[in-house]
Amino acid sequence: MRNFQLFIDGEFCPAASGETYESINPANQQVVATVAKGGAQDVRRACEAAQRAFDGDWGAMTCAERSAILAQAADLIEERTDEFAELETLDVGKPITESTGIDVGAAVNYLRWYASVTDAAVGETIPIPNGAQVDFSLRDPYGVVGGIAPWNFPLFLAMLKIGPALAVGNSIVLKPASITPMTTSLVCECFAEAGLPAGALNVITGPGGVVGEAIVTDRRVQMVSFTGSTEVGRRVIELSAHNIVDTSMELGGKSPNIVFEDADFDQAVAGAVFGLLLNNGQNCIAGTRLLVQRGIYDDICAAVAEKLDSLIVGDPMDPDTQLGAIVSEEQFEKIMHYVRAGEEAGATIAAGGNVPDDPELADGWFVRPTLLTDCSNEMSVSCDEIFGPVLVAIPFEDEADAVEIANDTIYGLGSGVFTTDADRARRMAAALQSGTVYINTYNQVYPQSPFPGWKQSGTGVERGFEGLLTYTRFKNVIQDISGESIGWF
Ligand code: NAD
Repeated sequence: MRNFQLFIDGEFCPAASGETYESINPANQQVVATVAKGGAQDVRRACEAAQRAFDGDWGAMTCAERSAILAQAADLIEERTDEFAELETLDVGKPITESTGIDVGAAVNYLRWYASVTDAAVGETIPIPNGAQVDFSLRDPYGVVGGIAPWNFPLFLAMLKIGPALAVGNSIVLKPASITPMTTSLVCECFAEAGLPAGALNVITGPGGVVGEAIVTDRRVQMVSFTGSTEVGRRVIELSAHNIVDTSMELGGKSPNIVFEDADFDQAVAGAVFGLLLNNGQNCIAGTRLLVQRGIYDDICAAVAEKLDSLIVGDPMDPDTQLGAIVSEEQFEKIMHYVRAGEEAGATIAAGGNVPDDPELADGWFVRPTLLTDCSNEMSVSCDEIFGPVLVAIPFEDEADAVEIANDTIYGLGSGVFTTDADRARRMAAALQSGTVYINTYNQVYPQSPFPGWKQSGTGVERGFEGLLTYTRFKNVIQDISGESIGWF
C-alpha cells in the first residue's frame, strides 16, 4: 500500500501531529493508501516556505526559466501517464480510459499552455492629459497564493491552480480534497524533478475545515483560488475577510441543456448524454437539466433513456467500462436521496434510478445513469446540485419559455443549446445567464478558453488569458519625466 506525505519546502514529510488517514477505493471500499493528516501547524510551515521561495530563488527567476520548469514538469507527468491514471481511478472511481484520455491528457495540455504564457501578463501604457508624465500599469504576482481543490478532477483541477499561479511567478500552498489526495501528491515529485525551487509548491493533505481554513486565514496568503461547492465557497469568502484577500471562486452548477425542435436529433441526444455523464455526472458544468421543446419531448426522452440503459457501468479499472463508481458513500447516498425525492414529487424514472445488479460491484458505490421525466423546474431534483448521473427532463413551449426556465436557478456556470437556427443560437447565447454557453456541443474545454461562473456559481475568471490575470494584481505607476519639482508650494 502506498503512503502519501505532505510536501513542504521541497521535501516530503509527515504531518506535525504524526496523524494519517486512509484513502478508499470507491469501487470496492478497499484501502488504497495512507495519507498524512495535515493541520494548522503544517499549513503555517508551508506558507513560510512559500514566502521564502517567493522572496528568494523562485521569485528571482525569469519568465523563460519558469517556463522551462513548467514544460519539464508537464513532460514528466506525461511520461508517468499510466501511474497517474491508475491512482486517479483508484481515488475517484472514474473509468481508467477517462483518467488516461481526459484527466491526465488535459492536465499535461493545460500545464504546457501555462508554460507558454509565463510572459503574457503584461501591463499597459495609459494616456493621461499631462505630457510631462507617463502612466503605465504592471501585473505583479501576489506572492503566496492559496489553492483549494475538490475531488471530481483532482489532477486536472490541481493543475488549474498550480499552472497559472507558478506561470506568473507566485508560490502556492495547495490543498487537494481529503478523499482524493494521491495524484496531487505525485505532481510534487514531477515538479521537484523538473527543478522547481523548494517552497514554490507546497501540498497539504487533510480535512478541509482545518487545512483549508488555515490556508485562507494565513497572513502570508494574498489570494485564494477555491474550487468546490457553493456552500463551502461561501464560508471561504467569509474567511477571506479576515485578511481582506482576493478570492477566485469556482462553485457549483445546475446547468440547463436546451433542445429545440429544429435541432439535429442525434446531435442533441449525444449532447444530452455526454453533457450529463462526463465523470459520471460529477462535473460542475454537467448539463443536468434537459430542457426539451414540447413537440419532441417524448422522442428525445425515449432516445436518451435508451442510450443511458445501454451504457456499461462497471469496474473502473476495466477498459470497457463507460461509467465507474461514485466517489464516496456520502455522495452515493445523496444521489439516491434525490432520485427518491424526485419520484415522490411526481417525476417518472425513465432510465436507471437504481444500482447495477452485477454482484461483483456489490461492495462499491455504483448508480445506473438516471433519467427523470415529467419534471418541473421547481422540484428539488431540478433546483439542487446533485453531482451524480441524474438528468431531469423538463418540457418548454418556445424560446422565451426556455430562457425563463433556464435562468430560473441560483447557479450560472454553463448552458447548452441545440438548434440548427444560427440566429436563435446567438439570441440564446445572449439571453442565458451563465459563464459558458455551448452551442450544438457540450463539455468542451481548452486551456485558452476562460471559465467564469455567474451568480452563485462563482466570482472571477479561471483559465484562459483572463484566468492567468486572476493570479496577478494590478499596479498603476505614474512617473514624472520633466525633471521639474511639483509646483504646489
Ligand atoms: P467541497 O466544497 O465540499 O470541497 C472543496 C474543497 O474545500 C475540498 O478540498 C475540501 O476539503 C475543502 N473544504 C471543506 N471545508 C472547508 C472549509 N471550511 N474551509 C476551506 N476549505 C474547505 O466540494 P467537493 O464536494 O470536493 O466538490 C464538488 C463541488 O465542487 C461541486 O459543488 C462542484 O460543482 C464544484 N466544482 C466546481 C467547479 C467549477 O469550476 N466551478 C469545478 C469542479 C467542481
